[in-house]
Amino acid sequence: MTQYGFYFDSARCTGCKTCEMACKDYKDLPSTIAFRKVYDYEGGTWTDAGNGTYTSDTFAYHVSLACNHCAMPACMAKCPSGAIEKDGKTGLVRIDQEKCTGVGVCVTTCPYNVPILDATTKKGVKCDGCADRVAEGMNPICVESCPVRALEFGDIEELRSKHAGTVAGIAPLPSPDETTPSLAINPCPAAKEVGDTTGAIMNEKEVTDIPA
Ligand code: SF4
Ligand code: SF4
Repeated sequence: MTQYGFYFDSARCTGCKTCEMACKDYKDLPSTIAFRKVYDYEGGTWTDAGNGTYTSDTFAYHVSLACNHCAMPACMAKCPSGAIEKDGKTGLVRIDQEKCTGVGVCVTTCPYNVPILDATTKKGVKCDGCADRVAEGMNPICVESCPVRALEFGDIEELRSKHAGTVAGIAPLPSPDETTPSLAINPCPAAKEVGDTTGAIMNEKEVTDIPA
């Protein structure tokens, strides 16, 4: 099986959210649902040197995140309806809308806060890796839309080989040990390691508290 996944270059990403909007447009999502979200992570302080000058260790960067089509998907392991499937050829993880009973276990078990319960259909929904486009040899729409080419999609092992020095997680993402995400991130110089406590998600309401 080829495991498809995303490469994300945090040194390029400007936080413009074009990827998020292109996905919402392509998938015709309501205002309450986004399959790709862009986290604004910022922190640091200013220190008064007492001589009229200040020093700063402030930082700010963005993380564009959709479903990571994990090798060990917690969402799939915990779904009581067996509605979440991992494709045998591509490794893409999808929620079968026919089988989903809307209990929302995936919403609470995914450490990346990816699945959302659609208030209208009462079903779990999330990024499917644009499986229909991928089957026709195209990239997911988010990858196509990024104006600075900060996203790539493909065989995750090939992406890791192509881009030296990638990691599977940076703050504010959870430890990759939980689900083994198919994600390769180029950390920008400001990027903090997973578990960092010096920064905060500055757009938390936007990325974690979208009303159902
Ligand atoms: S990122 Fe979350 S929803 Fe996607 S496969 Fe991994 S555990 Fe499941
Ligand atoms: S479109 Fe590209 S630059 Fe803009 S937020 Fe998404 S990944 Fe970052």
